[in-house]
Amino acid sequence: MRTLLSTLILLLFAAGCAGTPRVSALHDPLYRAENHTSTITATARESRDGIREVSISAIVGEITACSGSFLPSIIPCRQSAVGMGVVCVYPDVTTEVTCALPIAITPRRIITYTVTARSAGGRTARSGAVTYAGGAPLTQARVNLGFVNITIPWETARPVLWRTDTPSSSTSREDKIDFGFVPDEDMPNYRAFTDDLQPMVSALFYTDTNQFSQWTRTWKNVFNVWAGPDGADGEGCTRSFNAPASTVRAIFDGTAILHRNAFRDCASITLGGGAGTAQTNLGDAAWVLLHESGHFMFGLGDEYDGGGIWAASNPNNVFAAKAACESASSANGLPIAQCAEIGATGKWRNDDGNSTTMEDRTLSSDWRTLSAKAVNNIISSCFSGNCY
Ligand SMILES: [Zn+2]
Repeated sequence: MRTLLSTLILLLFAAGCAGTPRVSALHDPLYRAENHTSTITATARESRDGIREVSISAIVGEITACSGSFLPSIIPCRQSAVGMGVVCVYPDVTTEVTCALPIAITPRRIITYTVTARSAGGRTARSGAVTYAGGAPLTQARVNLGFVNITIPWETARPVLWRTDTPSSSTSREDKIDFGFVPDEDMPNYRAFTDDLQPMVSALFYTDTNQFSQWTRTWKNVFNVWAGPDGADGEGCTRSFNAPASTVRAIFDGTAILHRNAFRDCASITLGGGAGTAQTNLGDAAWVLLHESGHFMFGLGDEYDGGGIWAASNPNNVFAAKAACESASSANGLPIAQCAEIGATGKWRNDDGNSTTMEDRTLSSDWRTLSAKAVNNIISSCFSGNCY
């Protein structure tokens, strides 16, 4: 597993070798469930020969529940697709260039884009395809009962960052971590939820520069990000899910309930499929989101006195006995001398003395020791084709 991960890291860096453009793209806003202008912005750089051309190609269609002769799906499909795009030409620019494609979003849109950059030396690089939704969501689906078609209320998951060029219920997501977000009952409206989602997702996967987000920024292409409909309530750690949120979250590997009311955030300790809360108006909202996802998506326990000190991760990061900590540490190549009791709780962890995200509420924290092993094992499993 470790060798595979190291090889993949090498391959990622090798892709950026001399003469080959580096290219990335992102749409903005990430998700908005109403009419708006969505802008796909590509950036490219090749410092030796310079960038000569950047092209953005997009496929825009209508989101459907993949029904017809089948039952409706929570994962959406696309119909009536139309291609569009833009080509930006540069005088072999050696500094970073940007190219933008604005798209007018109308109800029930689903868009896929890819970006290609070409250097003056004729080398090309292509970004991975991203699919996202926008506009008023689908709220009903047609069901074919053989002798009659009926229309039923129906919601799909709403892709925010779906790493695919073929949006369909049959598209495999086994090699991706499906990170879901739903609004808490305390959000003033759905727009407030999507407005609050934007900076948290941006920071975690793209724009933050602190140590805590290094891991998610490195592995962003392993994550799909989804928005779900109303129905969740996390107030005071209750975490209740009613329809339609309860139905849609079934396809998520972890669900964050975004809320504004102040209460201490918490989460289930679940290796995939759990849920937790994240308060959006905190200064360190993205850090709190990552800490809680450590619980509900990766099964990690708290490493501080007063938290939830049990684990469902592989390996566990907290233990009920010193011997269990030593055994797991030894199996994972970590010094057993680092096994330390968490306060006077009788619970143990491997502590290398650095700030760790399951203990220390600081932007300089990172996944450390056994929690790092656990989250990196998930990434390795994703690359092997099955994250969970
Ligand atoms: Zn915690």
